[in-house]
Amino acid sequence: MTGAEGVKTTCPYCGVGCGIAAAVQAGGSVQISGDETHPANLGRLCSKGAALAETIDLEGRLLYPEMGGERCTWDTALDAIAQNFARIIREQGPDAVAFYVSGQLLTEDYYVANKLMKGFIGSANIDTNSRLCMASSVAGHKRAFGSDTVPCCYEDLELADLIVLAGSNTAWCHPVLFQRIAHARKSNPRLKIVVIDPRRTATCDIADLHLALRSGSDAALFNGLLGYLHVNGRRDDAYIRAHTEGVEAAVNSALVSVPGADAAALQCGLDATQVQAFFDLFAATEKTVTVYSQGVNQSSSGTDKVNAIINCHLLTGRIGRPGMGPFSFTGQPNAMGGREVGGLANQLAAHMELEIPEHRARVQRFWQSPVIADKPGLKAVDMFRALGEGKIKAIWIMATNPVVSLPDADAACKALQSCEFVAVSDCVRHTDTTAYGHVLLPAAAWGEKDGTVTNSERRISRQRKFLPAPGEARPDWWIIAQVAKRMGYTHAFNYSSPAQIFNEHAALSGFENDGARDFDISGLCGLDEAAYDTLPPTQWPVVQPGSAGTQRLFGDGQFYTPLGKARFIPVTPRDPRHPVDQAYPMVLNTGRVRDHWHTLTRTGKSARLSSHTYEPYAELHPQDAEPLGIRQHDLISVTSRLGSVTLRAMLNDAQLPGNVFVPMHWNDQFAAQARVDALVHPVVDPVSGQPESKHTPVRVSAYRPRWHGFLLSRRKLALHDVSYWARARGVELWRYELAGETQPGDWSAWARALLCAPKDSENDRVAWIDYLDRGAGCYRGARLLNQRLESCLFVAPGPELPSRSWLMELFALKRALTNAERNSLLAARPLAAVEDAGATVCACFNVGRNTLLRAIQRDGLHSVEAIGQRLKAGTNCGSCIPELKALIAQTVKQCA
Ligand code: SF4
Repeated sequence: MTGAEGVKTTCPYCGVGCGIAAAVQAGGSVQISGDETHPANLGRLCSKGAALAETIDLEGRLLYPEMGGERCTWDTALDAIAQNFARIIREQGPDAVAFYVSGQLLTEDYYVANKLMKGFIGSANIDTNSRLCMASSVAGHKRAFGSDTVPCCYEDLELADLIVLAGSNTAWCHPVLFQRIAHARKSNPRLKIVVIDPRRTATCDIADLHLALRSGSDAALFNGLLGYLHVNGRRDDAYIRAHTEGVEAAVNSALVSVPGADAAALQCGLDATQVQAFFDLFAATEKTVTVYSQGVNQSSSGTDKVNAIINCHLLTGRIGRPGMGPFSFTGQPNAMGGREVGGLANQLAAHMELEIPEHRARVQRFWQSPVIADKPGLKAVDMFRALGEGKIKAIWIMATNPVVSLPDADAACKALQSCEFVAVSDCVRHTDTTAYGHVLLPAAAWGEKDGTVTNSERRISRQRKFLPAPGEARPDWWIIAQVAKRMGYTHAFNYSSPAQIFNEHAALSGFENDGARDFDISGLCGLDEAAYDTLPPTQWPVVQPGSAGTQRLFGDGQFYTPLGKARFIPVTPRDPRHPVDQAYPMVLNTGRVRDHWHTLTRTGKSARLSSHTYEPYAELHPQDAEPLGIRQHDLISVTSRLGSVTLRAMLNDAQLPGNVFVPMHWNDQFAAQARVDALVHPVVDPVSGQPESKHTPVRVSAYRPRWHGFLLSRRKLALHDVSYWARARGVELWRYELAGETQPGDWSAWARALLCAPKDSENDRVAWIDYLDRGAGCYRGARLLNQRLESCLFVAPGPELPSRSWLMELFALKRALTNAERNSLLAARPLAAVEDAGATVCACFNVGRNTLLRAIQRDGLHSVEAIGQRLKAGTNCGSCIPELKALIAQTVKQCA
């Protein structure tokens, strides 16, 4: 659908599912803006969405099929997959093959992959990286509601009087919903916000109460709340009688395990008055929404935690009505779509169940398939374990990077290395996972393909193509269908467009449904290409043609269980599977940073997004750092029983003592040793199979290299003999932070070998300037090409090195460097008084921390509004507002 502002599509990052208008300009560049008509974001975008245009160039793209590292034809690649899969199935049975797919796929891609595996290959060995993000929510929903139903909608956040954010750094992970909540708070003075998180995150910026509970103790807190509500007469007995079952067992379990607010405080490591305040607030506020996300899901008892939350809503009857309900925020753009088509190994399509024979028969009848999987397949962690054990002989990985994101990620590497046949579909040529592919398939990227995605509030939105697919890239649904045809299933996979697939998916959702299943979009069935193209964002279920969809569910008190009643689930809080001990005394918590997404394949291309966090880091409490001799910005090792990473130390009291937080994004393409999931134990929730990514026992130690340094280069460099490096995109350059354990005998020779270009044109004039202070252990060198700065290297014994922002400004000069500027390079400081902007805080307007500190201290700008007026920071996407507020508060406090 094209309007004056461009093609309307959907953001490919998080589960908020923001609408985007993408306009291709005359010169081929793309202008991105928020779609003001999309109900999810009403024109807002966060920093990641706003920078999408910077991530869609062709640098690093996989453009042609490859086999054995060589370019090949599509026919060769597709034949290889079909023949290898068919042979292995023939020789070893259907469970000897697997698909590992992704919440990045569009629903139509997902539908075709699931159909091929479950209905034609006859195995349920298809699982998805969404297993790592929200499988516990799915399992919790199904236990309580009899269906994987999200009852709420985003408008409930604006109608609520209390929002509880449990295990959700909404400000960074679902930024536009955070902005909606922050806005609601301004317009509704009654609205209170409680954040439940061991870390004091940016989300706490708008919190009335922050409960920094002990890692993993969420179920104890909500069990305590359930008992408290029961004891204090806050039950809605009419609702409980009419619409639920099992209340007494759940309440008893809560009362026995966590008898009262004091017990909850003790078990959660919280102040009793804070817990009491939370319980009182929850008890007194009818319109309560409890949001939960990865902090709840990524646990060996994640499903119980989800049910502990839902129990509190069922006990008070606060579900299915405006401004109330338990609300799972999904991580990925199409985690929900994947659930709808059955993309998890323990699901069938259209929210039907593998374990139910009638469901299997119905789906098989609909697909007219030769077989149907008759038992659940292997969930992600078990799938890669089976791969390592040789039980799975062939795997096809689509749109995901498991070598980075799976727990015990080094074991995933070994498993892929030993696997007989690995196919990888991706749009990026070099990822940690494509390195293991026998066959690589170039997939079309965001902006190059059509389909649908479903966001956290069940809203189906179109992703629309606005760019031609480059090289020989093809949509995932086409690739899968081509393999299916080569395996002999032409009749069932003869698709010619995503609209055709969507129609089949919609028809299956309504097939023999009669209101028995929540997922029903049969009202969207029969859309022709034009109607599919103009499909407006719509919340399922959509049963009647022409229906506008369904805002919230369960308002009638009817659930999808055999009795039609919601089920209370008795919960006994459990500690994380691996407790800390003397050898590994700290808890590792993994998560996201504000401006990056997953494994950096896209956001890592943007200088703007890379400027906020340019290096992998570990946050820890100064109290933990001090006895270990770790100072701010030192390099440190974080080590578990499975592996070790080397990171920059960020000391702050936002972490609880004994906790260390490490972002999950960095991988071998961007750093020497920062794949943090290689440290995470592969323990999973027994119900959902979701790994415990928030609680790994680790030890932390100082890493003391012999030298530190950094390097700026217009060219991407290969670093071989450096023990620590981390790479980030800058404007027209790459930035490398370095450290080494061995010193080269001749720094100048080493630098020249590293920075020399493979081929400069004969007409290029190359010059080299450098300076060595052997006594101080300092080296500075710069390579000039045609008198402009082409690369420079700075080395010192400690991490204190010159400002990178000043040097980056020299790279931005479009003219020859002056002698004064050359001298300033060698002196490692600007000759004139140049104000160093510092690390970027506002990515939209490139406003640095030092600039902001000067504005607060020197110019007395003590409000976000005043800063916005002067520097524009915080006035576009708003993602930096919590950091602006924290800087103001911190600086004003220091000056007081
Ligand atoms: Fe994209 Fe940001 Fe919206 Fe998420 S909140 S969908 S990342 S623009």
